[in-house]
Amino acid sequence: MNKNTFHSNLKLSLERANASLFLIIKCHETIMRAQNEEEIYKRICRVLVDQSQYKLAWIGIAKHDNKKTVIPIAHAGFKEGYLEESTIHWKNDKFGHGPTGLAFRTKHTQINQNLLENPNYKTWRKRAVKYGYNSTISLPCKINEHVLFVFNLYSDEPYAFDKQEVEILETLAKDMAYGVHNLRIMEERNTDKLTGIPNRRYFDEIFLKELKRAVRDLTPITLLMVDIDYFKAFNDCYGHIAGDDCLQKIAKTLHGLVSRPGDVVARYGGEEFAIILPNTDIKAISLAEECRSAIEKLQIPHKCSKVSKNVTVSVGIKTSYQEQKLSPRKIILEADKALYKAKELGRNRTIQH
Ligand code: GH3
Ligand code: MG
Ligand code: MG
Repeated sequence: MNKNTFHSNLKLSLERANASLFLIIKCHETIMRAQNEEEIYKRICRVLVDQSQYKLAWIGIAKHDNKKTVIPIAHAGFKEGYLEESTIHWKNDKFGHGPTGLAFRTKHTQINQNLLENPNYKTWRKRAVKYGYNSTISLPCKINEHVLFVFNLYSDEPYAFDKQEVEILETLAKDMAYGVHNLRIMEERNTDKLTGIPNRRYFDEIFLKELKRAVRDLTPITLLMVDIDYFKAFNDCYGHIAGDDCLQKIAKTLHGLVSRPGDVVARYGGEEFAIILPNTDIKAISLAEECRSAIEKLQIPHKCSKVSKNVTVSVGIKTSYQEQKLSPRKIILEADKALYKAKELGRNRTIQH
């Protein structure tokens, strides 16, 4: 090798290393900042297609149906039709012999350096060639040997994945799996097991954040406290399991009703729900009434209630205006006072403090 060739090779490999480093940093940033799994999937695919030479990036999860289908849940750079037209399985059948299926089953990276030559790629070859793909890599993203999802990259060049590139992509696959795993742990910690909505812990955290934001942005914020009427009697009448069922239905209804970005419906305690409505004052009164009425309309029989033949709720409302700078404790206390008043006045009503 002459001196010039040596230098130009060195320059090329330095450039590649630099590009890889840049890519890894970008992906790390994405994983660290993501608020939910979907963001990780979508953004990593986007980064890989926009910032590197890959033509297609997609992520598949394993569905536990009879066919053991692989479902694409995120993608970037894909040409209309390719993924929709492709049947991919993770069981050992005609549609499970490809790199994605194998990555799920073997839990090892599958490098498909030249899809024209790979006999396992026969099922999808014609279509892939039509779309201009020549090599692929499928990376199982796993935690403790459990594959959470498979990350796939396609290049228009054959033999696009050298040793260094594979190492980098495997590191990225590990980081993605940890990122998703951590988000799942966080979500579990913040979710009420019975109803599946945010729990008290999450409420405390987010209420504080939203209050700070309201003070900073000079906007009002409202808290609704929703409490089921005569719920002890409901349990006594119909049993605890029916009581749990009722809590789930109410949580689902409130959650479905209050769905503006930033709004939060949480299970505050036993049969009490807290609703945070950022940037809301007057409108909160009609929203509270909508919640109350939606629960009544569920028509869950409650023969032991003294206020209705169906399950009802009472709602306490407290709006905090920016100039008041109320503490979270004070707002909760006052919303509770309003709720107590609603109970006193006969229940199945909304009262504003
Ligand atoms: P009020 O109309 O004044 O609110 O009366 P109440 O009976 O609803 O209120 P009370 O505080 O006396 O009783 C609340 C009941 O909620 C008692 C408790 O057994 C029930 N409860 C709390 N958590 C759960 C739960 O997770 N599942 C079930 N089934 N019941 C629960
Ligand atoms: Mg109650
Ligand atoms: Mg209560």
